Formats: sequence, structure tokens, C-alpha cells
Amino acid sequence: MDDKSYPHLLAPLDLGFTQLRNRVLMGSMHTGLEESRDGFKKMAAFYAARARGGVGLIVTGGFSPNFRGRLHPLSAEFSTARAARAHRVVTDAVHDEGGKIALQLLHAGRYAMHPFAVSASAIKSPISKYTPTEMSTRQIKKTIEAFVKSAELAREAGYDGVELMGSEGYLINQFICKRSNHRYDEWGGSYENRIRFPLELVKAVRARVGRDFIIIFRLSMLDLVEQGSTKEEVVQLAKLLEQAGVTILNTGIGWHEARIPTIATQVPRAAFTWVTEKLKSEVSIPLVTCNRINMPDVAEQILATNQADMVSMARPFLADPDFVRKAEENRAEDINTCIGCNQACLDHIFVGKRASCLVNPQACYETELVLTPSASQRKIAIVGAGPAGMATAVAAAERGFQVDLYEKNDYLGGQFNLAMQIPGKEEFRETIRYFTRRLEQTGVNVILGHAVQAEELQGFDEVVIATGVKPRIPGIPGIDNEKVIDYQTLIRDKVQLGQRVAVIGAGGIGVDVSTMLTEPEHQDLDDWLKDWGIDKSIEHAGGLYPYSEYVSQRQVWLMQRRPGKVGRGPGKTTGWIHKKVLEKRGVELLSGVSYDKIDEQGLHITVEGQSRILEVDNIVLCAGQTSVEELSEKLQAMNLSVHVIGGAEVAGEVDAKRVIRQGVELAAKL
Ligand code: NAP
Ligand code: SF4
Repeated sequence: MDDKSYPHLLAPLDLGFTQLRNRVLMGSMHTGLEESRDGFKKMAAFYAARARGGVGLIVTGGFSPNFRGRLHPLSAEFSTARAARAHRVVTDAVHDEGGKIALQLLHAGRYAMHPFAVSASAIKSPISKYTPTEMSTRQIKKTIEAFVKSAELAREAGYDGVELMGSEGYLINQFICKRSNHRYDEWGGSYENRIRFPLELVKAVRARVGRDFIIIFRLSMLDLVEQGSTKEEVVQLAKLLEQAGVTILNTGIGWHEARIPTIATQVPRAAFTWVTEKLKSEVSIPLVTCNRINMPDVAEQILATNQADMVSMARPFLADPDFVRKAEENRAEDINTCIGCNQACLDHIFVGKRASCLVNPQACYETELVLTPSASQRKIAIVGAGPAGMATAVAAAERGFQVDLYEKNDYLGGQFNLAMQIPGKEEFRETIRYFTRRLEQTGVNVILGHAVQAEELQGFDEVVIATGVKPRIPGIPGIDNEKVIDYQTLIRDKVQLGQRVAVIGAGGIGVDVSTMLTEPEHQDLDDWLKDWGIDKSIEHAGGLYPYSEYVSQRQVWLMQRRPGKVGRGPGKTTGWIHKKVLEKRGVELLSGVSYDKIDEQGLHITVEGQSRILEVDNIVLCAGQTSVEELSEKLQAMNLSVHVIGGAEVAGEVDAKRVIRQGVELAAKL
């Protein structure tokens, strides 16, 4: 009997010419290091840490095989011997740690954000600025040759294989689907013609790299756009790709232009493994599944039930480089779990910043944000055990300081305790679990249920104030009316509200509260898929039904004083999901509102010069926060070294990403 807790996940995978040490593939993620100064050294440290942590096969972020295929004019390309030499430091670092690594080759096609974009046809995507030029036959052949040359160079650079990016709506996917391929020649028209590009590509790459080199093909198995592929077509292509020489088939879910969430935190865990499962009996090469798999038990279950042969996780390795090692040591509760927020990874890449991780600010900063052991055993007091206080305490204790952490509540986690009660944000519970474990393991002295006084902090070498925020109560006449409740009390005390509710303030919290108030009861995975119009049989093109019409029984108004768009919340890559959910549920979104008064009738407002009365049962205040900070003055008068961080320092736009990073950076410098 196998004594491992995750026997399927940790079983080696024999590829014939080589073996992978387990079934874990670290999925491709652009980190922003690909283009940065000294990026290769930093990338080497980033990937080496994940290889040391036990990942079976790493796939790099996407590199274009030629100039036109770059996502941005300055995006990384992999097409020269010089590039191959520069990548050596990365492949060597991974191999030194016993890992394997494949280079992803990605041609953006019509998603390229520059005027040199090319595609199967000259059809602009709804999310692009530029209409691509239709590729000539010569250009198609040259592009295949560019991929082949890049694959050869990848081999020279020491890579164990390449991944050909054939999903998410990039060039290869654009050839496959009618949606973006309106050609009449041998590269368009019938399905056989539309799949000629990926098949010729794979055959050409295989012919040139030899038999003992991994070729992963990322196949779009569920396009989630109109005029996407059907299941029958996906199966046909998968079989032909196998014959053409693919070693491993990876799964792609949803084009970037699809308007269905596929990886955000609202997506249930392992929500799309049923897609890969449909191909399981159709091909004999290993199949990889992906999307919202973030803990070893979830991955194990997928493999144990034969839905796939390998599991791809990407963001979970930003959150915790040692994920696999912890699974091997049966310490899943020590894993720093990816909560699917996208705030420090995709949101950063979207605006051209380096990726990192909300719960692990050291991700992609392995050589810069280093917690070196301290020479002295100084005593540190931290006041407040929300995200900022917990992160600071753990990082300071990791450096060897003696840390006392005071919290006035009798529980840890601060605002995360509210966040985890929002439907679709349950993952925040994992972050509290992780930090609680780390506080225990690093020997932090945690004092709960105690509002520490300045005098008690005498004798500490450093005091960190992380006392957070409290809800802002706006000065609207009638604000004391019993209909009014602040978001903190509402969520913390699980107060039941009436059927008509006004929400004042449409920032992240107003959006979350409106989602919570309109959430349907008892949603399981099938309900969630149905709610987003996903056809589980994939008989309809792209796997899409028309939307089902769930409208909340409760009527909610969400409003802000500012003119302009309402309901997106702060997430750059997730805002559209929030807005769509609210619209689907019939929430009325109002901007340019002035709040006149509150009385027994309800909330009196003026919008565009018109007075309105919202006859509501309740009014929820989500009007931002103010800092809670009463200690620093006294402590400074006592000549103590004081640091105020997080919401206690600046309440405006406070979020967990900022405060956790601030806490760890402070601890690194103490
Ligand atoms: P926020 O984003 O600053 O929004 C506050 C809202 O209150 C705004 O809509 C603002 O709009 C309104 N407001 C401000 N002062 C007001 C006043 N005196 N009277 C009436 N309305 C007023 O803050 P938040 O929603 O409280 O969120 C706090 C932080 O948590 C944010 O930084 C956010 O990024 C973070 N968060 C993130 C997420 C996420 O999913 N990533 C979710 C929740 C929270 P007007 O001034 O136009 O009225
Ligand atoms: Fe996961 Fe959020 Fe970290 Fe991205 S920032 S890796 S989504 S926890």
C-alpha cells in the first residue's frame, strides 16, 4: 500500500524518453520578468524555487516566435541564438534543482496590441485595438518555420520541451475557429482546413526537434465564445494532434474575449475538469487539466477519478513555491493557498507591472525581498492581527526576532473574516488558516482579546501599529435611522435584511455586499455553470447556451456620488465579472447621486437634478473607511521606535495586497 496521502498526484509520469517526477505541471504565467532588466537572473531564481519545491514540469511564460506575434511591441521574443544563450541561466537553475522546464511559444495573432498584428482573417477581436492583417500563404509557412526555429533554439537553450499555445484565442486558436477564420483557401473554410495550421505546425516542430523532446499542445477544449468548436471537433483535433507527434495535451478553457469567468475566485474549485475528462478515453497521450485547482486534495481527486493524467496549476505556485513538497510531506495545511483574487498577478500584468502575489509578496521578488536571519534577538510588538499585522509578525519571526502580536478581538484575521463571508470569496479562509499556522510555527506570542495599552509596550525595541480601519459613517441627515447599518456589522453579525435594500458606496465593498444580498440560495457547480450559460455537453459551438435568467427576489440599489461607471469594483481583470453578475441579478446601478436624507419612507436622493425616494427596508453603508490609530503619539512620547502600517496609516484604498507587502517589507528592514 502507498503511504503517500496524494498517491496519484505524486506518482511519476513516464513519457517514454523521459520521466516526470510527479503529475504536477506549473502552468504558463507571464511574470513581467521576461522583459525586465536583469530579468533572466530573477526568472532563474523564481523558477528554481518552484523546481526545488518539487514541481514535476514547469512551463515558462509565453515567448513569441517572431516580431508580429508579440503581444506588445516590447514583449519578449525567442527567435535568436542570443536569446537561447540568455535563457541558459534559467534552464540550468531548474535542472540543478532536479526539475524540468518547457518554453511556451505564443503567437498573439489578433490579440497583439500593435499595428503589425496578423491573423487567419482580418477580423478585429472585441478586446483588441488593431484589426489584424490576413496572413498570406507565404506568411503562414514562414510563421510555422519561425515556431520550428524557436523550438530548435529552445532545445539548444537546455529546455526539456516546448508548449505550443493553441488556446485562449491566440493565433493557433484563431485558425481553428470559424469565429476568426473566414478564409477560402486550404487554411480556412472546412474544419479540416482550419486545423491544418496547428497540425502542420506540430508535424514540422516534431520533425526538427527529434523524438526525445517534449511537445505540449495547449488545446482549447471549451472556447466559451460564439462560433467556437464543438466537442466532436475538439476530439477530432486531439486525435490528429496525437498522431502528429504531441507528447502531452494541455487544456485551455475560454478565449480572452469570452465573457464568462474561468479562473477568478468566484469560479468554483476544479470547475472545468469535466471538460478534460471528455477527452480521456479518446486519446492515449497524457492529458492535463487546469483552472481553479489550488490544493492537493482537489488535484488528487481529479486524478483518482481519472479525469486527467496531470494537473496544471499556475497561480498556486506564486502563492507557495513549496506546494508540492508540502503535499509530499503530508503538510497541506501549511500551504499558502492561492485565493484566485488576481490582484497582484494578472491585474499587474494587465497594466505592464511585474507580477507578484497578494498572499506572498516575495513571489517574483526572490532576489530582492529577502528575509535574512537577524544578528540580534530584538523584541518586536505588533498591535493588530489583521492581514498587515499577521504578515509582519510571521516575517519578523522568520528573521529570528522575538515577536508579540496583540489583537483586541478574540480571533485573528481582521477584515479577512468579513471577506470570506462574501459568496465566491470563501478562499480568504485559507489565508487566515495559513497565517495562523505560520504564527504557531514561528513561535510568535499571540495575545488575543486584549486591547493593549501604550504603557504595556515599554521595553520593546520596535512597535508596529497595524490596527486597521473602521467603516466611515457619512453625515447624511437621518443617518441614525434604524434602517441604516454599516457593512461591518451586517457581515459580522449576519444581520437579515428586508427585500428592498439601498447600498451607499460602490467601491469593492459595496459591490461585494450587493453580490451577497442577491446571491441565489444553494448554488452547486452545475447551477453555477448553468447560471453562466455553459453547455456541459459541448454540443453547441464554443460550449455556450444563451444566458439563463436568474433575477434576485431582493431589489438592490448600488450607488455612488461620482459620475461614471458603477459596479466594477477595484479588480482590473475581474471588474467586468462583478458588473455582469450585478446586471444579471437586476441590481440598479446609480452614479452621480447626492444623498438628501433618510427617514421612515426610505432614502431620499437626487440624480441628474431629479429627486427620488428609494422606499427601502434597509440602507447599508459601504462608504469607505477611516483609520483606527490611537497609540502612536503616546508611544513616540515614550521614545519608542514606532511604525504605523496598513489601514491604520492610510485608510484610503486600503487593500490586502498593499498591506501584506508593506508588512513583509518592513519586517525585512527591521
Ligand atoms: P472604496 O473603494 O474607497 O469605496 C468607497 C465608496 O464609498 C466609493 O464608492 C465612494 O464613492 C463612497 N464614499 C466615499 N465617501 C463617502 C461619503 N462620505 N458618503 C457617501 N459615500 C462615500 O472603499 P471600499 O469599498 O470600502 O473598499 C475598501 C478597500 O478594500 C478598497 O481599497 C478596495 O480596493 C478593497 N476591496 C477590494 C476588493 C476586491 O475584490 N479586490 C473587494 C472589496 C474591497 P463616492 O465618493 O463616489 O460616493
Ligand atoms: Fe493567487 Fe491572488 Fe496570489 Fe494571484 S495574487 S497568485 S490570484 S493569491
